[in-house]
Amino acid sequence: MTITEPPTPQAEPVLRSAYQQSIAEYWNREKDPVNIKLGEVDGLYHHHYGIGDYSPDVLTMPAAERDSAIIAEMHRLETAQADVLLEHLGAIDAADRVLDAGSGRGGTSFMVNQRFGCQVDGVSISESQVNFANTQAAQRGVGKQVRFHFRNMLDTGFDAGSVRAIWTNETTMYVDLQQLYSEFARLLQHGGRYVCITGCYNDLTGGRSRAVSQIDQHYICNIHPRSEYFKAMAANGLAPIAVTDLTAATIPYWELRERSSVATGIEKAFLTAYREGSFHYLLIAADRI
Ligand code: SAH
Repeated sequence: MTITEPPTPQAEPVLRSAYQQSIAEYWNREKDPVNIKLGEVDGLYHHHYGIGDYSPDVLTMPAAERDSAIIAEMHRLETAQADVLLEHLGAIDAADRVLDAGSGRGGTSFMVNQRFGCQVDGVSISESQVNFANTQAAQRGVGKQVRFHFRNMLDTGFDAGSVRAIWTNETTMYVDLQQLYSEFARLLQHGGRYVCITGCYNDLTGGRSRAVSQIDQHYICNIHPRSEYFKAMAANGLAPIAVTDLTAATIPYWELRERSSVATGIEKAFLTAYREGSFHYLLIAADRI
């Protein structure tokens, strides 16, 4: 079943540039087993990485069971990552409305709705992801509470002050942070919470390391330096309340992924970047002041 999105109220087209078109094409075509096979474990489809230690038993299982055990373990770590994001969203009531900015196939949105019972809107510039996630919402019986839209997170068209919380789970490397946070400042209620999980490069080690550049090229993205996040938040009325370095916690996930059947070839670049200290996996929670 495909749910058709009503026409967007935005004056501007959703995809504003050749760059955004190439991102949309990437995600429209994307069917990587690392995302699909893991999603099939329990119907929560994530497009982000995992955190926490894996059980070493999965690597010594008989060949017939090993692959599916590794996949289930990687999925567990990706869900654990989203759980940490949820823990930072603050108090959310069932009557609140929240925004998943760059919602992918919807995994984190469904977890948030399940935990808080709130209204969730997800936006993505990939129409096939939006259709996939809306179909999932209908199948899960939450189509009235969790809705996905083909919209640009830089200009969502949603009302000013209409959301209690916003999160970006590995999406900020596709956009200009000043533009993004100016839109979030407009959307968030006073005291509303913003939570970001992202990879960012370390300003201390100079510019982009070779490994970080390889990641950029692989995903057609533009990883920002760590300092840029805090500058852009401060300039847009977002005051950080928690900053957690998740780098050490994500390394085991990448080590397991490197040894899995669903490795995509980018694992080495992530491991090098994290281990050499040129790249961090960061969670930042901020309040709209
Ligand atoms: N947050 C999701 C998906 C991460 S993948 C998850 O954790 O599973 C990156 C997502 O960012 C994709 O869904 C892509 O369509 C979206 N994206 C990139 N640029 C965007 C933009 N300008 N507006 C809205 N979504 C965008």
